[in-house]
Amino acid sequence: MRITRPFAALAAMATAGAVLAGCSSDAGNQAEDAADDGAAAVATDASFEAGTTMADLNEAGAITIGTKYDQPGFGLLNPTTKAPEGFDVEMGKLIAGKLGIPEDKITWTETVSANRESFIQNGQVDLVIATYTINDKRKEVVDFAGPYYEAGQDIMVAKGNPLGIEGPDDLAGKNVCSVEGSTPAENIRTNYPEATLTLFDVYSKCADALTNGQVDAVTTDNVILTGLVAGNKEGFELVGNPFTEEPYGIGLAKGDQPFRDFVNDTLEESFDDGSWADAWDATAGAISGQEAPEPPTIDRY
Ligand code: GLU
Repeated sequence: MRITRPFAALAAMATAGAVLAGCSSDAGNQAEDAADDGAAAVATDASFEAGTTMADLNEAGAITIGTKYDQPGFGLLNPTTKAPEGFDVEMGKLIAGKLGIPEDKITWTETVSANRESFIQNGQVDLVIATYTINDKRKEVVDFAGPYYEAGQDIMVAKGNPLGIEGPDDLAGKNVCSVEGSTPAENIRTNYPEATLTLFDVYSKCADALTNGQVDAVTTDNVILTGLVAGNKEGFELVGNPFTEEPYGIGLAKGDQPFRDFVNDTLEESFDDGSWADAWDATAGAISGQEAPEPPTIDRY
């Protein structure tokens, strides 16, 4: 059933709290809302030039996609269905659909920040869609379609901001948590060396460290922190002062130009036909309460 976007957002918002609280049946509904909204249409007539990655995937009728499993709104594992849910996941379903691959033939694999490049390089995944910033260092070993979203590094602190942290300069002499292999961790290490950096493999461990007072702040992309704050509004708050640009790309094997073109075309179509905005409303937008922004401009570098 096609429902209007404002209603879709409200319906998904009603389930978002339950998703964060770990209520699995409602979490399942969140994904269904997005699917009902046309976000995961499967092309029955897709055909591709022989020898391309698209033709291989279409013929196999299956795809493997790496995403995050602990980031509400972008990639969060539903413990009952064992499938992740979120905006990144919906992007994956859109791309699979264009390849003629239904959702139930997507194999999801958890990729953490530090292993995204190696998973692509080793062929363990066909795509990585995982709050993955496009940058020159990563482009040396993988290629990126996109961007499909523009985030920015921000800071999360304990509710009430007891230490008065308003931006990265205030992290001097403080203990700040981030994730190994991420651009925010690299930024703190390089540009704010007076901060003490605690690193984990995933952001949920940073949130736990903030809860138990082991660290003073958590830093990563604003949209990831927004998801963590939504899960513990009594415990956390977002400083709300983004200080970098983090354009999210879809990682794929370096040099596979036809596949990159195909993913870029698919993203542009989703920007134009409203399925990108529908996916936002049903996932990250439902959690943050924010309308879908204007889609970014694809960078066909
Ligand atoms: N977007 C940043 C990155 O790609 C931070 C988020 C993350 O670690 O996934 O490193």
